[in-house]
Amino acid sequence: MRYSQLFLPTLKETPAEAEVVSHRLMLRAGFIRKLSAGVYTYLPYGLAALRRVEQIVREEMNRAGAQELLMPMVQPADLWKETGRYDKYGPELLRFVDRHERESCLGPTHEEVITDIVRRELHSYRDLPVNFYQIQSKFRDEIRPRFGLMRGREFVMKDAYSFDVSDEQAEASYMKMFEAYRRIFTRCGLNFRAVQADSGAIGGNFSHEFMVLAKTGEDTIVVCTACEYAANMEKAEVRMPATIEVEPMLDTEKVETPGKRKVESVCESLGIPPSRLIKTMIYLADGLPVAVLVRGDREVEEVKLKNLLQVADVELADDKQAFDATGVPTGYIGPVGLGLRVVADQEVALMRNAVTGANQKNYHLKNVNPGRDFQAEAFTDLRQITTDDPCPVCGGCLELTEGIEVGHIFKLGTSYSEKMQAMFQDSDGSEKPFVMGCYGIGVSRVVAAAIEQNHDDNGIIFPVPLAPFKAIILDLDPRDERIDGAAQDLYRGLTAKGIEVLLDDRDERPGAKFKDADLLGIPYRITVGKKYLQDGFVELRERKGGEVEELSPEQLLTVLP
Ligand code: ATP
Ligand code: MG
Ligand code: MG
Ligand code: MG
Repeated sequence: MRYSQLFLPTLKETPAEAEVVSHRLMLRAGFIRKLSAGVYTYLPYGLAALRRVEQIVREEMNRAGAQELLMPMVQPADLWKETGRYDKYGPELLRFVDRHERESCLGPTHEEVITDIVRRELHSYRDLPVNFYQIQSKFRDEIRPRFGLMRGREFVMKDAYSFDVSDEQAEASYMKMFEAYRRIFTRCGLNFRAVQADSGAIGGNFSHEFMVLAKTGEDTIVVCTACEYAANMEKAEVRMPATIEVEPMLDTEKVETPGKRKVESVCESLGIPPSRLIKTMIYLADGLPVAVLVRGDREVEEVKLKNLLQVADVELADDKQAFDATGVPTGYIGPVGLGLRVVADQEVALMRNAVTGANQKNYHLKNVNPGRDFQAEAFTDLRQITTDDPCPVCGGCLELTEGIEVGHIFKLGTSYSEKMQAMFQDSDGSEKPFVMGCYGIGVSRVVAAAIEQNHDDNGIIFPVPLAPFKAIILDLDPRDERIDGAAQDLYRGLTAKGIEVLLDDRDERPGAKFKDADLLGIPYRITVGKKYLQDGFVELRERKGGEVEELSPEQLLTVLP
């Protein structure tokens, strides 16, 4: 590609609105231009970098046996209603009505759509396992879009969905994706960690996030210096008390109801500073969960609670909403709390006596506050980790560090397939729900993360696999026949070798060309200038280490890797 023919508008000034380095450099190096909050146009140079990431992702997904398809961005609300997510998803889901008054939304993720495809098309265990993926624009109406491509509202994601016959097979599919993700981020030349994003108390880990280590990361992660343990700060596992001491609950009849209190005061009464209440508090009475305070992602919390309580199933109800599907009483609904339904026979029986809230008439005690009215002990399964805490796996030292979430894999189980009636016939003739997994990569965020991790004061330092061009030839004097001739020859020679080269043939001062070459971050810079006229040498300089070599054009053609 000739620079003179390429739309690559670089900026000398640092744009004021950009807070982080990748955003600044992407604007300056002509990657992107903003259309509206969190919505960007990819200019040719930025698009080329995006395509590099896509290609690596595609190759590794295909290698892992996944099949590419492409689903619509506009989705009917009806599908989302089947899983209950149309209401639950919150304001990040952009909802709208079309001319026929049909409710629709822009896809922030595609579990519903893919499950709909699968339930219509796949009916037998013989069709499984399958894993479908797409690389597509997602829309999430983020409350604070910022940092350019790091947190956009419209962004490019690779999302994949696996369907299996059993939990075991689903775990195998999960592990395949885990490995594929490792290969992808390694091939991208990124320094990353796979971190646990789930407490993993039983049945292995259900979720991992892939974090690129960079100061501007919005996530804090906990990494053990001695073993492989790494976890998202929010999800990091802290050893549970060996025995949980539980006082019998007060007789519900004697409960007094003097008004409301805030979570903070509940924490206080339990001796937990509110700052340490990060996610979940479970109140126990007679050794059984009676109430739960949850802040966070409901699906994650449900899986975590299930593991933690070692019960068959757990479902969080919405605040103040009682469950009645099976006639099982719900748990108490606290001030910011959610109802907890534990589905397991003997527990349910006991809960009937212990619980203060229920969906039976005259059974629900109003204005009861856990911690005040229960004499139950509470424990937090999660709290703020400090570097003084020992590693929960090996007891070694923990380190806190910042990360950018570039990928997330999740074992979903049957929650979607059950709600959407997506069933297949197993080898014994029985009808079963598909066991699912989902796997995301923020493709556009990867480009930003790569820049966060690889830059200096002068600009981007692309990892070779992500660079739009491997080399840039600076033709320092296009008007000089010999210089220009040598630069053009090199350009043709390298191109013939299959190397992607940008030939800077613009009518610009050498200083401007050097500056732009550094800014663009192309791994190898080849300068053809006065030295060539004097002794026939061109200069090869590596962007990363700054090493310089002087070579004849013939040598250069054989040397450039
Ligand atoms: P975050 O915690 O950053 O909001 P998420 O956990 O909501 O991300 P997932 O639902 O796990 O995101 O989506 C899969 C991947 O999509 C993420 O790992 C991330 O790389 C990417 N992603 C999510 N939201 C955005 C966004 N607003 N802009 C760019 N990439 C995003
Ligand atoms: Mg998010
Ligand atoms: Mg996240
Ligand atoms: Mg995530």
